Amino acid sequence: MNYSQQRNCILNIVCSNPIHPTAEQVYEQARNIFPRISLGTVYRDLNQLSQMGALKKICSSYGSVRFDGRTDPHFHMECTCCRRVFDVEKSELFSPEKSIMDSCGFLVRRYEISIQGICRDCREKNRDLPIDKTEKR
Ligand SMILES: [Zn+2]
Ligand SMILES: [Zn+2]
Repeated sequence: MNYSQQRNCILNIVCSNPIHPTAEQVYEQARNIFPRISLGTVYRDLNQLSQMGALKKICSSYGSVRFDGRTDPHFHMECTCCRRVFDVEKSELFSPEKSIMDSCGFLVRRYEISIQGICRDCREKNRDLPIDKTEKR
């Protein structure tokens, strides 16, 4: 398998993984396909793919870099328990651009919304999970 096929395969791993995997998680999956691939190669491919605009790098609030196969505008919410990151559609949130423009004439070019909580899987596993316990690793 040549280099660009390998990189495409890495892109596919990210695109088919709606939890926004970290490089390590991509590496774990890539190893099943390319047993000799190194974590460094996965990092390099992921960085090249994000420079090409094929995927997006996002920073989790825990400081880890994660990769997103979706490049259209959308938001993220992060589970404080399993630390997976999920997509939130723009239509599910308010769109502040227009109201900010109307109220103070500020042209919003870019904004971030940070949402944290507990995902359905984690809630079902442990219904009365204390929030502070989940903050530690
Ligand atoms: Zn979770
Ligand atoms: Zn996303």
